[in-house]
Formats: sequence, C-alpha cells, structure tokens
Amino acid sequence: MDKKIYDLIDGYRDEFIQTLKGWIQVPSVRGEAEEGAPFGRAVREMLDRAMNDAKEMGFPVRDFDGYACDVTLGEAEEKIAVLGHLDVVPIGDGWDHPAFGAEMEGDRMFGRGTNDDKGPSLAALFAMRAIKEAGIPLRRTIRLILGCDEESDWKDMAWYAAHTEMPEMGFSPDASFPLINTEKGMVHLRFLAENKGTGIRVLEMATGDRMNVIPGESTALLEGGEELAEKVRGWGEKNGMDVRAEVTETGVRVTTTGIPGHSAYPEGRRNAIGMMLLLFRDLGAQGPLKTLADAVGMEHDGKGLGCECRDEISGPLTCNMGILHLADGKWIGTLDMRCPITADLEALKAAAIAHLPGFEVEDLGTKEPHHVPAEGELVTSLLAAYEEETGLKGEPMSTGGGTYAKVLKQGVAFGALFPDEPDLAHQANEYADISRLLTAAKIFANALIRLAGK
Ligand SMILES: [Zn+2]
Repeated sequence: MDKKIYDLIDGYRDEFIQTLKGWIQVPSVRGEAEEGAPFGRAVREMLDRAMNDAKEMGFPVRDFDGYACDVTLGEAEEKIAVLGHLDVVPIGDGWDHPAFGAEMEGDRMFGRGTNDDKGPSLAALFAMRAIKEAGIPLRRTIRLILGCDEESDWKDMAWYAAHTEMPEMGFSPDASFPLINTEKGMVHLRFLAENKGTGIRVLEMATGDRMNVIPGESTALLEGGEELAEKVRGWGEKNGMDVRAEVTETGVRVTTTGIPGHSAYPEGRRNAIGMMLLLFRDLGAQGPLKTLADAVGMEHDGKGLGCECRDEISGPLTCNMGILHLADGKWIGTLDMRCPITADLEALKAAAIAHLPGFEVEDLGTKEPHHVPAEGELVTSLLAAYEEETGLKGEPMSTGGGTYAKVLKQGVAFGALFPDEPDLAHQANEYADISRLLTAAKIFANALIRLAGK
C-alpha cells in the first residue's frame, strides 16, 4: 500500500482518540421514539455527531430520517459498501470504568461501543479519509453506511434500502478478523405436550426466557421427600453433574447448574435444562419428559433429533433448548438450530418433528443461510489486505450467529477484533486498543483501495 496512507493514519492518532471519545460518551442505547428520532434522542444525537465529524472531514453526508446515514467517497456508478452501527446495547452490571466515560488506560479505551461497533466504524471512516487525502483515484465509489438499530430490529437497514439503492458488495466491520463469509441457516421450533406420563411428578419448572441462550441454571419442584432428594444427590455424584436437592414443604426443589452461553456457540457449554431432563429420565420419568431426554438431553449436535449434519464450509449443525416451562398443565419449550448452508431446512424440521412423538411442534420461522464464495473478488481482496497488514494467514470463517453483512447480497463480516483479542461485545468493561483500531483502519484502507482503486 502507498506509504502516504500509513503516514496519514499514524498522524490521525490523537484526533482519532478525541473523536472516538466523543462518540463513546453518547449513550446511544435505543429509547423512546420521537419526531426525527425513531430510536430515541440519544441515538439521534449520536447520528448527528457522526454526520458532523464526517462532514468536517469533507465528505458528503446524507441523513435517512434518523434511521441511518451514509458517507460517500467518489463518484463512480458502482459502489463498495462498509456497514457499521452507532447504537449500543444497555450497559449491564459489573463495570470497573464508567461505561460511557471513554477512560483511557495507556493505549486502551474503555466504554460501551468501543469495540461494538463505534470504534471499528470510526476506523473505517478514517480509512476513507486517508484514501481521500492521499488522492487515490477510484474506479468504484466507497460508501460508509452507519445504522442506528443493529442491536434491536435492523429497521435502520430496511429503511435505508427502501429509500436509496443498497450497494451489492461490501463488508461490515462488526465481528472479527480475518473474515466471516458463511452464516448458517436457522430453524426455530416451539413444542408443546400435555404434562402426562408416569414415573415422577414435576409440579413446577420454568427455565429460560430466550431461545438463543443456553441456560446455565434450571430449577424444578418435584413431588416427594427426603428419599427422592437423596436419589437426586446420588445421581449428581455418580454422573458428575452439579445438582442440588432441597426438601421443602411442597416437595423437593432441584437445581441443576451447567455452563451458560449463546446458542450459536455451544462448544464447551452445558445446558442446565438438558441436565434436568437426563435426571428426570433416570428417576423413571415416562411420557413427554422421557421423549425430550432421549431426543435432546444435553446434546448440542441434534443427533437424537435425527438432525446431526455438517459440511466443510459451515461446520456442524448446532441445536439448543433455551426454554422449558410447565404452564397450565402443558410442557412448552423451544429449539434453536443453526444449520450448515448445504442442509435442507425443511427436512431438518421434519426430522425433529418425527423424533418428538406426542408433541405438537410449531414453526417459529426459518432463516436461509448466507454465503459469499471464498474464491470471489470480495473475499480474496479483503484477505489479501489482512495478510499484507498483519503478516497473519487469512482464512474465511463460518458463524452460527448473524452479522450485519447479510444485508448486502455480497456481504461479509471483516474485523475489527483480532484473533488474539477477547470478545467483550455486550459485556462489562468493553474496551478497544487504539493501536489495534488504527491497524484495522490500515487494513480497511488497503482493502478499499484493492476493491475501489483504479
Ligand atoms: Zn455490533
């Protein structure tokens, strides 16, 4: 890459820090809609700030009614898009630094949005600025699109696409390097059955409220006394499961403890509902509880549901039971499957239904997979830029999660977290290292010159 670009980006350091501070200090969590501010006043303030900063750098900027903005470099018909977002998730507990304080510790800035996704978005904006100031001639226009609703409903991109032309090709710096070009398909199911069956009597159970979370703890109230409690404890010891049982006036209160996580990434996690189901089965449960224990249990590969499959590009199918409630005499639960791109989603649904006899199964919706070929111009250009700037090998990756990139027909997630950095998105003490963000800016500039330069 042109040496001028490196000098320019290194020279932006202080200004980059000041600008990012300003962005982090706006608590742009979704709020009450107002006139011209569909996601609340703070998000609107953040959008205005980003547009002003881009304008001051000399870019033409357009506001899409508070849903999103875009920043343009170049005048060519064909475009390359960069998709970032300015909204953030609520701060949650456990912070050692003010979550909107943008405090620096050496090279490190702490704050909600430093990594997801204000820091990477700003790195992309500074990359465009360097390309502009270096006077690099362009054959394609570079368009940075900054949305305001990524953390909720993606209404920002829907609005944007409805009011202007969405570029076909581009990337979103809202995940990790090297690059994600494959997003698995999704199947979401709800199942219901009467609380019938013999063996044990469950009086209460209500675990989980989100289908995409692996529950870390589950409790249930079972009919019985000390004898049952002893059996439960013995089962836990024998099977190496973290299970507690406490005799109360109304029955035995059983608690299982697993390892919580996100349902798209079940490796190394343990589903506490699954643990409870295996316990129920070993205590002699028949009927729907035994069916669930056999078909799902603690598995996260869909094997017992007849859904186990994988392909080379996407890796294995994953399956999670995020919710299991006993309500009004019925068992109600959910399954969240993340499916390889070559899988037939209808066939997977049919297999799951066939393995849950006695359950009424309801389709809560499917999402088709998203894939951009590794051999194409987009992926090869981005990976070449990554390899040139880092000296690391760039391989495309697959995810069970969803990224902003699939808004584009040919869209991939690219950065801005490096392979050796912890992912603190949505967690306490989120931070970004400024030197890493400036390296990301160099990678983006390199990539954009490959894709858009003459
Ligand atoms: Zn994000």
